[in-house]
Amino acid sequence: MKTVKEYIRTIADFPHEGILFRDVTTLFADPKGFRMAVDQMLTPWAGEQIDKVVGLEARGFILGGAIAHQLSKGFVPVRKKGKLPGATISQAYKLEYGEAIMEIHEDAIAPGEKVLIVDDLLATGGTCRAGTQLIERLGGEIVGCSFVVDLPELGGRKLLESLGLPVSVLCEFE
Ligand code: AMP
Repeated sequence: MKTVKEYIRTIADFPHEGILFRDVTTLFADPKGFRMAVDQMLTPWAGEQIDKVVGLEARGFILGGAIAHQLSKGFVPVRKKGKLPGATISQAYKLEYGEAIMEIHEDAIAPGEKVLIVDDLLATGGTCRAGTQLIERLGGEIVGCSFVVDLPELGGRKLLESLGLPVSVLCEFE
């Protein structure tokens, strides 16, 4: 049986020269692969109280929707600036060159709600960190952060764990 990692395609020099893009669309497109990824992303949190699943734009929406459905819980998107229609709060974070801003609807998480954050890939951890800050500013409590792929050389897992955030990943690429 193929592993989750074996379903992921690598595309060189996308979106910039020198980047190895880990393309999870080939994992999502396969019925066995997609189910395996969703099931494995849930396993570490079995028995934990989870009230909301937060997905990070954009591939985190696909995984987060399936995970929220499996748990019979609500799904909340964290999106890039300007995409959410209602009243939002914003969080800036550093990119390799410059800065980006993520947003969440201000009424999407109630104080005290337990939240699982989901995305396809953890690199520097900047995107996920911005997501955790938004959730914490609304009074949510992070149960954990769940990813398909970790790029350990970029230090995201170390960053999140140093902040006391539990992290689970299904595979690593150097
Ligand atoms: P970071 O904020 O550095 O942890 O970057 C994570 C975000 O960037 C995720 O939403 C990923 O989908 C995307 N990303 C970063 N590096 C890659 C890569 N090598 N392949 C695919 N997606 C990536």
